[in-house]
Amino acid sequence: MAQTGYRSRLTGLRTDLDRAGCRIVPSIGDWIAATCRWNGALAPHPALIVQCDTAGQVATALRAARAASVPVSVYGGGHDWEGRSFRDDTVVLDISAMTLIEIDREKREAVIGGGVTAGQLNEAAGSEGLAVVIGSDGAVGMAGLLLGGGYGPLMTRYGLACDNLLSAEVVLPDGTVVSCDAQHEADLFWALRGGGGNFGVVTSMRLRLHALDTVFAGTIIFAWADARAALSRYAELMLRAPAELFGSAILSVGPGGGPVVVVSLVWTGEAQEGAAFTAEVAAAGNPVMMKAGPMPAVELLSLTNNKLAQGRGYEVATRWFRTLAPDTIEAIIAGFDNRTSPLSSIIVHHCHGAATQVPPDATAFGMREPHFTALIYGTWEPATENADHHRNWTKQLEGALTPAALPGGYASLLSDASPQQIAHAYGPNAPRLLHTKAHYDPEGILRAIPLPASS
Ligand SMILES: Cc1cc2nc3c(=O)[nH]c(=O)nc-3n(C[C@H](O)[C@H](O)[C@H](O)COP(=O)(O)OP(=O)(O)OC[C@H]3O[C@@H](n4cnc5c(N)ncnc54)[C@H](O)[C@@H]3O)c2cc1C
Repeated sequence: MAQTGYRSRLTGLRTDLDRAGCRIVPSIGDWIAATCRWNGALAPHPALIVQCDTAGQVATALRAARAASVPVSVYGGGHDWEGRSFRDDTVVLDISAMTLIEIDREKREAVIGGGVTAGQLNEAAGSEGLAVVIGSDGAVGMAGLLLGGGYGPLMTRYGLACDNLLSAEVVLPDGTVVSCDAQHEADLFWALRGGGGNFGVVTSMRLRLHALDTVFAGTIIFAWADARAALSRYAELMLRAPAELFGSAILSVGPGGGPVVVVSLVWTGEAQEGAAFTAEVAAAGNPVMMKAGPMPAVELLSLTNNKLAQGRGYEVATRWFRTLAPDTIEAIIAGFDNRTSPLSSIIVHHCHGAATQVPPDATAFGMREPHFTALIYGTWEPATENADHHRNWTKQLEGALTPAALPGGYASLLSDASPQQIAHAYGPNAPRLLHTKAHYDPEGILRAIPLPASS
């Protein structure tokens, strides 16, 4: 009965959208096949896909979907690992063509459309000698990245990606177009910075850029025999790292087929000091490879871009830690030793400096203490294979890390099926976040990254 009601509402919605001149994608299957879906293991079943180029079109589509009580997903860069931008039985608003970028070199600001990717903005800012806080992959949507917070190698120096948002144009679920910043629609502006796309569709953003043309990058690769020493040195260094130093450690299978630990450092101060930090990490063992030197800031992305290749099967889990205690390092090493696929990897990065100097209640992103984030990427190919053993590996390793971990985690990467972690992901900000959701989207039309359950 409910299904019949849904189907007739959907038919009515399609007619309304057609009448309003909205561009409905004729074949959902073709769209799914043609659109870059990062996690190839997903088999999505959205109800309708509408392509939007303007805030006005987004507003029309939202109004129609709301009137028909059909929930909406917003598709930006398509890199949410659970496919939350094309949820089953939703109307997908594909805003990936909203790619306007304007750079104001004097003001060090960018105005970008809601569908701009991190790589597109990085390139445009870099061509003006400016840098932007982005993450590790250029194909990730800039809005999706910063709505969830936005970790990246420049965050220790300039704050999370969301800390660099100056204002946004948002289409609310009732179709109203509003501008928000610290003075206007302040609750909405607060919620956008860490609370995900749960409050409206972001069609345009003004972002702060930075005068940084060169960085010092050090990459040190250790053989597995040095894994323990390398991770311990990395962990110890991060706890005293200045804001100019970002570091991550990656456990993966190297080109020779054996597991390796890669420590990657990015230093935004004087090159000499960057070289000293790199040498300090290298001295933890006998690196099998080391590369260090200055590079243009715009090229930083090339160190990590597409390393988590598009189209494979993925299961992702994440945990936060205050420190990487010896037991935690042992659990990470043992977990990687038990991997079920040579494509799987574990990444650990550390957040400190500018990203932790923002008060926890200043934005919805509530984790403002220095912390390590461990990311477990169970990865397999072909993506269509029955992959429960890779999924189980990911979950078991996450379980093994749980006793030493903080209770929350990075909401942007948390599975909808992790309510315990989600309950703590926003720290003290959960009640305000839920209040803001109830205010802006009382009918729950938009479902983006997970919010805590209301008590
Ligand atoms: C390979 C890879 C590398 C990553 N690296 C990093 C990293 O370095 N740092 C980091 O912090 N995270 C990283 N992430 C996580 C990533 O930032 C999030 O998954 C992000 O939400 C993806 O955004 P998207 O637009 O590409 O994805 P989508 O799947 O299109 O969207 C993700 C979510 O954001 C919503 N959304 C997107 N655009 C809008 C908009 N304009 N208005 C309203 N809602 C919107 C969607 O509805 C959905 O809920 C990475 C993910 C992958 C797969």
